[in-house]
Order: sequence, then structure tokens, then C-alpha cells
Amino acid sequence: MNQDWLEKDFYKTLGVDKSATADEIKKSYRTLAKQLHPDANQGDAKAEERFKAVSEAYDVVGNEASRKEYDEARELFARGAFPGSAGGGFPGGFPGAQGMNFDLGDLFGGMFGGGSTGGRRPQRGNDLETRTTLSFADSLHGITIPLRLTGDARCEVCHGSGAKPGTQPRTCPTCNGSGHTQRSMGGFGFSEPCRECRGQGTVIDNPCSECRGSGAVRTTRTVQVKIPAGVKDGARIRLAGRGGPGANGGPAGDLFVIVTVTPHPVFGRKDDHLTVTVPVTIDEATLGANIPVPVVTGGSVSLKVPAGTTHGKTFRIKGRGVPSAKGRDGDLLVTIEIAVPHKLPKAAREALEQYAEAMKSENPRDELLERAARAPRIEPEP
Ligand SMILES: [Zn+2]
Ligand SMILES: [Zn+2]
Repeated sequence: MNQDWLEKDFYKTLGVDKSATADEIKKSYRTLAKQLHPDANQGDAKAEERFKAVSEAYDVVGNEASRKEYDEARELFARGAFPGSAGGGFPGGFPGAQGMNFDLGDLFGGMFGGGSTGGRRPQRGNDLETRTTLSFADSLHGITIPLRLTGDARCEVCHGSGAKPGTQPRTCPTCNGSGHTQRSMGGFGFSEPCRECRGQGTVIDNPCSECRGSGAVRTTRTVQVKIPAGVKDGARIRLAGRGGPGANGGPAGDLFVIVTVTPHPVFGRKDDHLTVTVPVTIDEATLGANIPVPVVTGGSVSLKVPAGTTHGKTFRIKGRGVPSAKGRDGDLLVTIEIAVPHKLPKAAREALEQYAEAMKSENPRDELLERAARAPRIEPEP
């Protein structure tokens, strides 16, 4: 087991979540390897360094057995079960008591949002979240929309180095660029973020005036976001790599877009199908009728409501649902609602009274009351 592993977050290096599937890891690795391949980045030392880091990370977490070992070791380490980090950040290791070292940076790194405790270790950018509202039609067809995002972006004046153009950050003399300093305490050697360079491993003598040495500037940028056809209200769309920029060559975070769909005044949605509720009169439901049903593309189609249709019954009209360019149109689900008149003209009232008289023997509750009489009685609690 390579103790050096404990110091490195191979998932971060690969730009995936700790819970990523083997497939996701493989996919991310392939993308990064292609992007960072030395053939495609001639003379770019940063890309080469990252290419190596990505390869190393994939060697470990791209393999089920070594990934398991790595996860277990990191978990134990995070719980402080063994003070065993070799302190990969400083050459030769710190000769603490028993030759062991804690790396406070790693232990506490998570609490500070993965703070920059590892020298110039590549860091994944933040995930960003934004909201957008779509019309019902756009949600059905899909749409590409511009989204304005405010966040940190790499300073273009110093290209993210934080140093005034023409100058370079200097290796921190206190920690020799490792970002860590060593301290002995209670018989153990501790590694903690270097105070001089705040864990960066470099110091900047002439800060960039644009970003005041941070290497990042707050900007509003507009990104074009493709919303897929058929998106539902409340959907959270993940756009990999469209979030905050990474630091030290790390990958960008993800952008999450939460979609609100404005309801349609007539139609609802159920998967690929549209829904509509259509009132029918008592006589239509009883005697049967052909009724017009509105469709989303305009106009209406005729639906045959058979005699004896009950309230709440749903009919399916094929191919009149969510229109799709791929020819896989959903259906229109028509739910019948029996409209009970509020006011009856005299003639209608008389007709209905006649009807009631004629139907006297047909009480729809007889069966229910019989069943209730046979059911076990439930006594009040004593
Ligand atoms: Zn700058
Ligand atoms: Zn330092």
C-alpha cells in the first residue's frame, strides 16, 4: 500500500465524485487523457504534469481492487485511525517520533471546502447552481438558452498565477514549495499548512493588479445551456465541467440548472404524454357521445365517449401527446369529468324528476350498504 496515496485525492484529480461508478471514472479519465495528452500540448509543462497526475489517479481508482484499498485507507486516515501519512509533500519525509506524520492539511482539508493545503495540487472548481424558467412549449421541444452566471473565473491578466505579468510567483522559502511545514507534538510529527504562503507553495512579490494576487476575478459570464426536450418541472440538469474553474490545472466544477416549467393553461404532463381533463354532461356520459378534445398543436380531435362512462375515466388518444421530431410522439390522456349543472331550467328539472321516478328501483348504493352490513364492526376504543 502506497502511503503517498493518502495525500492525494484521485477522484478530484479525475474530476469525479467519490461515489462515481467505474464507468464514470473511465469516461472522465479518457476525456482528460485525450485533452492533456502531451502530443496535443507540445511544450506545455502544466498539461504534462496533469497528464501524469491523471494517469496515476486512474491507475489506482480505475481498478476495482486498488480503488477499494485506496478508499479504505483514506477513510481510516480521515478518522485518524492511524497516523501514517508519509507526508508526500516534503522530500525525505519528516523524521517525527516513530517516523510518523500527520498531515493536518489532509485531515482538515474537507472542513475548509478542500482548501489549498496541498501546495500546487490541482483543485476541482466549485459546482454552481442556477435556476431558469421555461415555457411549457420550450420544455416539450427543448431549447438552448443563455444563462448568466456570476462567479470566480481565471484572471486573464496574469493567467491565474496571481503574479504581475512579466513576473513569476517564487517558490516559498519557508516550506520549499511543499505548502506544508512540520511541527513535533506529543511524540508525532505534524504537517500543517505553511503560514508564509498559506499552503500555496509559492509567494508572490508583485501581485497582479487585476486580481490582487488571487489569480481569480469575479465575473459574470454567459453560458449557452442546452435544455433537453421533455424536461420536467423541478428537474435538475447537470452540465459537467460548466461550473467554477479549477485551480492549479484542476478541472472545472459542474453546473446544475434547476428548471421551473410554467404550467400550460390546458394541458398537463405525464412522462411523454399530455393530460387534459374534459367535462361531459350527464346525458353524454350516460348515453354516449362524440366530443371534441383540444390538442396542444391547436384545434381539436373527436373522442368517442361510450355509453355508461363514469367520472374520472381516462381515454388515450394515440400520438397526440408531446410532439417529437423523432416521431415518437406521446399520447394524449383524456380524463372525463362529469359536469353537474348548478341551475336547471324548469323543463330539465321536470325531465330529471321523471327520470328519477323511472330509475327508482336502481339504487347505486344498495350493494355498498349490503357490503357494509356484512363487514366486521369496529367498536370505539374502551
Ligand atoms: Zn491576475
Ligand atoms: Zn510556504
